Amino acid sequence: MKKIKLTLFSVVLLVFSLSTFGQRREVKPVEFKKVSNGLFQIMGGRGAQGGMYVGDNGVLVIDAKMDKPSVEQVLKGIKQITDKPINYLVNTHSDGDHVNGNRYFPESVTFVAHENCRKEFFHTKRNGTTSEWSKPELSHFIPSMTFRDKLNIHLGSKKVELWYFGVGHTTGDIVVYFPEEKTAFLGDQIFLKRTQLIHSYKGGNSFEHVKTLNRMLETLDADIFCSAHSEMTDRKTIGKNIRRMKERQEKVRTLISGGKNLEEIKNEFPKEERKLVETIYREIKSQQAEKPDTRTLITSQNKSRIVGMQWILEKMTIDGKEYRLAKEKPFIKFDKDGKVAGFGSVNRFFGSMKIDTKGNIKWHKAFGSTQMAGPPEFMKQETAFLNVLPKTEMLGFEGIRLYASTRDGKTELVFYVPVR
Ligand SMILES: [Zn+2]
Repeated sequence: MKKIKLTLFSVVLLVFSLSTFGQRREVKPVEFKKVSNGLFQIMGGRGAQGGMYVGDNGVLVIDAKMDKPSVEQVLKGIKQITDKPINYLVNTHSDGDHVNGNRYFPESVTFVAHENCRKEFFHTKRNGTTSEWSKPELSHFIPSMTFRDKLNIHLGSKKVELWYFGVGHTTGDIVVYFPEEKTAFLGDQIFLKRTQLIHSYKGGNSFEHVKTLNRMLETLDADIFCSAHSEMTDRKTIGKNIRRMKERQEKVRTLISGGKNLEEIKNEFPKEERKLVETIYREIKSQQAEKPDTRTLITSQNKSRIVGMQWILEKMTIDGKEYRLAKEKPFIKFDKDGKVAGFGSVNRFFGSMKIDTKGNIKWHKAFGSTQMAGPPEFMKQETAFLNVLPKTEMLGFEGIRLYASTRDGKTELVFYVPVR
């Protein structure tokens, strides 16, 4: 009986995902959907659904779309509604579909975001390439005004509240709240018809996401919630989404204690939820390994446990030429005494290090296979032994940057290890 039910469910989801795929290929024209007087949702175009608010003396825009034609349509649409200038553009978080269009807005606009979101503009991308936002010509379009917990923006008599409720989809997602209209713009913190995205490579976390959304519901007196990728919704539906996330987390936890491995656990969920399920699995594994911060992560492990952890090879210079890479399935291995015995990925880069009692990382040795990248001569070698250089940097809560070189000193490597 249970099996039949599950099959039916999968069929329905398959049909749905095919139809959304079809829709995604054509770009719908930008459209302004009125939420209440002076407040609009900006639909269509390439990129996420944003918003627009007309204050007494200017306009505030939420999120930027992701290409020039879409932004041009947004600017044209705003002009048709009001001749007031755009004073502010608020980025709800750092994903490309929300920020790439910043550069097509007038330079006179003040760009606003959470302080973590601004930092993420400059992060190395998932594929290992440098962020384009470090180019000087784009400097005007990076958030110049940031905040930590709350920021009020007054547009004459109208007040807009920017709230940060914590980590969730990334570490820098905010809610844009219009108290008079009782309307909250949530960005990517709620997806209704798609599975919730949690960007663990940006520090996102599903357990924190639940707390963050609950905090939001408790704090804001909102009735209307606008998502960047779904239709408008209400309190009840958000509550339902929170419960669904908790149910998934509980199911994963139960399956882990039942001795199931990651692949088996993923197979217990519909296909489109498996990426999220993998994230939840890794989160639970790291909770079980008790790693609230970098220091305890590295010192409290034991029993040769391999924990899920992302590390990305940022940069590799071979004979003066730079190569950039990112790795997908990384891990850290701990020995019986709880010392880190190695780090590596499926592409086989390994190392060993020791930590002193203050949590300072003292590196010893690293070595790896050379199948990862580089010129043909380098690829041919079986193994390149590496020396980790003594200039390891801790990047606050974000991670560790490690420097290494090959034994001959010719090749320099820079690793970025996000820690969460
Ligand atoms: Zn988005």
